Amino acid sequence: MHSPIADYLQEVLDTVRDDTGGEVAGYIPELAAADPDVLGMAVCTVDGRVYTAGDADIEFSIQSISKPFAYAAALTDRGFATVRAAVGVEPSGEAFNELSLEAESRRPKNPMINAGAIATHQLLVGPHATVAERFERARSFFSTLADRTLELDERVCTSELATADRNLSIAHMLRNYGIIDDDPHEVVEGYTRQCSIKVTVRDLATMGAALVNGGVHPQTGAQVVTPAVARETLAVMAAAGMYDSAGEWFTRVGIPAKSGVAGGLLGALPGQCGIGVVSPRLDRHGNSVRGIKAFHRLSDDMGMHLMESEPHGSTVLRSTTVRDGETWFALQGAVQFIGAESVLAAFQDDTTATGTLVLDLSRVDRITDVGRRMVLEGLRRFVLDGREVVLVDPDGKLPNPDLGDGTFPTVRAGTARGR
Ligand code: GLU
Repeated sequence: MHSPIADYLQEVLDTVRDDTGGEVAGYIPELAAADPDVLGMAVCTVDGRVYTAGDADIEFSIQSISKPFAYAAALTDRGFATVRAAVGVEPSGEAFNELSLEAESRRPKNPMINAGAIATHQLLVGPHATVAERFERARSFFSTLADRTLELDERVCTSELATADRNLSIAHMLRNYGIIDDDPHEVVEGYTRQCSIKVTVRDLATMGAALVNGGVHPQTGAQVVTPAVARETLAVMAAAGMYDSAGEWFTRVGIPAKSGVAGGLLGALPGQCGIGVVSPRLDRHGNSVRGIKAFHRLSDDMGMHLMESEPHGSTVLRSTTVRDGETWFALQGAVQFIGAESVLAAFQDDTTATGTLVLDLSRVDRITDVGRRMVLEGLRRFVLDGREVVLVDPDGKLPNPDLGDGTFPTVRAGTARGR
């Protein structure tokens, strides 16, 4: 069977193809020479499957889409406190190349604008790292995320460095305020090299998929960043990834994202997929015109807006039955906070003062840490009430079911499926 998903992506591209609005970035001469008609798209799922359409294997410079990944690398290399001391997490509401510093601390407002990204770049590796070491850290980290060796586009890099007055002046100001220690020319050289790494939309989708999968690479299985770093990176993308149209983007599309002036656009939907689109003509904010339209379609058609919720309530509590003097609570699906809350509410409603309570987990897919703690606390309270508690957990979904005092519920073997 030919995948309907690949066909759908092709259809999305076809519906935006005729829009020739916007201009290719003009302030970097080499980008001005880019083919404006390139149009490609890729989606990488948290299971590591990749779907593509259009120019999915054409390389372009990553530009500002490097910023969230460099931020993730800096958090990994230097820790949250050091990174926070140098750069904030507030949307600036200003253009990407404004200085946008906080009034008192003089920190750049966030790592998604140039000032914040320049400060972030100089945090890579360690305090005294060289330009080459910091660039190599970015290049090898991006390569790990893309699961292929990424290279520098020398022409774009040289071209941008020749016209980097604005970023140089930002770096000088950052040094003046003590936000960076390095020579401004060296920081801007390293940052510009980071921006000039060549990627495809397939790479972007794969890199994004690692962030939305708790930091675990969906194809290699490697833990590429900690869950905390992945979460922070996505949060900053949601707050400030789309330059001065971040608020409009998030209300309309609802997907954490980052755009770059070469026309790339990365979307990262937590727990679901990474999405890469490329189309070089940009709007006045510097975002890809057709890329944005493609994301509008995806968000609308596929229900990808993060703030969208469905009125189904929790389905974790599959059934409550009384059999042979035993009260059975059968759970199903993924047990997170609200699922566990529904179980605790059912426990609370159980007015049987005696008898055995059986918790049947045979249809549960997974229990999050908070789900586990809440369910165990409920069981502990039943035991305190003098009830016997039995666990049916054939797949070991509730490991180490310590009731908090070193005692464990009785584990009954066998599956109870069908109950
Ligand atoms: N290298 C570009 C710059 O610093 C990146 C800007 C962007 O993609 O928004 O100007």
